[in-house]
Amino acid sequence: MLDLLIIGGGPIGIATALEAKNKNLSYQVIEKGPLVNSLYNYPTNMQFFSSSEKLEIDNIPFISNKAKPTKAEALEYYRRIATANKLHINLFEKVEAVNAEENTYRITTTKSTYQAKNVVVATGFYDLPNMMDVPGESLPKVFHYYKDPHYFSGQKTIVVGASNSSVDAALEVYRKGGDVTMIVRGSAIGERVKYWVKPDIENRIKEGSIKAHFNTTITEIHPNEVVIKHQDGSLETLENDFVLALTGYRPNFEFLKKLGIAISDDDKRLPQYNPQTMETNQKGIYLAGVICGGLETYKWFIENSRIHAKMIVANINRQ
Ligand SMILES: Cc1cc2nc3c(=O)[nH]c(=O)nc-3n(C[C@H](O)[C@H](O)[C@H](O)COP(=O)(O)OP(=O)(O)OC[C@H]3O[C@@H](n4cnc5c(N)ncnc54)[C@H](O)[C@@H]3O)c2cc1C
Repeated sequence: MLDLLIIGGGPIGIATALEAKNKNLSYQVIEKGPLVNSLYNYPTNMQFFSSSEKLEIDNIPFISNKAKPTKAEALEYYRRIATANKLHINLFEKVEAVNAEENTYRITTTKSTYQAKNVVVATGFYDLPNMMDVPGESLPKVFHYYKDPHYFSGQKTIVVGASNSSVDAALEVYRKGGDVTMIVRGSAIGERVKYWVKPDIENRIKEGSIKAHFNTTITEIHPNEVVIKHQDGSLETLENDFVLALTGYRPNFEFLKKLGIAISDDDKRLPQYNPQTMETNQKGIYLAGVICGGLETYKWFIENSRIHAKMIVANINRQ
């Protein structure tokens, strides 16, 4: 019988495992992909907006070449924490169900079953992209995750959205010879775009090297073109090779519901938990990391959610 089973081997799942180990609790992390699966799937050349010490777990130094680390450095850091501390993490194993039994939980995965007194849900939100729900979205030319710019060199590439991910991709693809057009639902580049990147994208748009249509949405995607709709309702057809639909991601609400976790019925869809302990309405089931923000996926990140690990373990130890 485990003291706690942690679902998700992201930075916050790892932080919780380390804290459990340090406090002599028995624990197991179950991760459905490779270690820090979300980070592994981030764009190859991404740079974190946080400086490295803000991404540290348990004050273990995170040394990076520049103040803000790269993806490769972050993978190295979290991997070293997991291996050096011999954390119990099962990879490529997915949690499918959590069932309450007398004072414990039975956790069923794709490979085994476990018994635990407590369950920590640290599943993040990077698995499910927000779909545009337009015809042609399932064509192989449409990507909801962006890796690197080389593929799009010399190609008419539409980037949907104006958040950090879209802006980074648009600039990178443009600089590697892609013919970039941004399709933006709002009237401007997003307010939360990194302050050192915003002038770059705005100036590229102003000079015309990156084209942008604001107050515009995609209505149809075809193999060689895309139909867009302007604010006045008029339609325009653009020649197009690829679409990077970087329209954000959402937590797996179905999974939370299956666990009996209450979710607010407003448009934020916030999972309910006690902010002092991180325990949900289900006794012994906790939330950790970015999953806590519901559809407000910008609200929690590594920097401000790594603290959840200590809060949860302290509460379990008080029981
Ligand atoms: C491009 C980009 C840049 C970012 N830069 C920063 C930054 O500079 N600073 C910062 O603080 N944050 C940053 N973030 C956000 C940060 O990466 C996330 O906040 C962080 O990954 C959250 O950690 P987490 O452990 O809560 O969730 P995740 O890292 O998403 O981990 C969740 C894990 O759960 C696993 N999982 C899901 N469902 C199951 C299941 N049923 N069974 C088993 N495993 C499951 C997933 O595979 C995943 O590995 C950035 C995000 C992006 C996209």
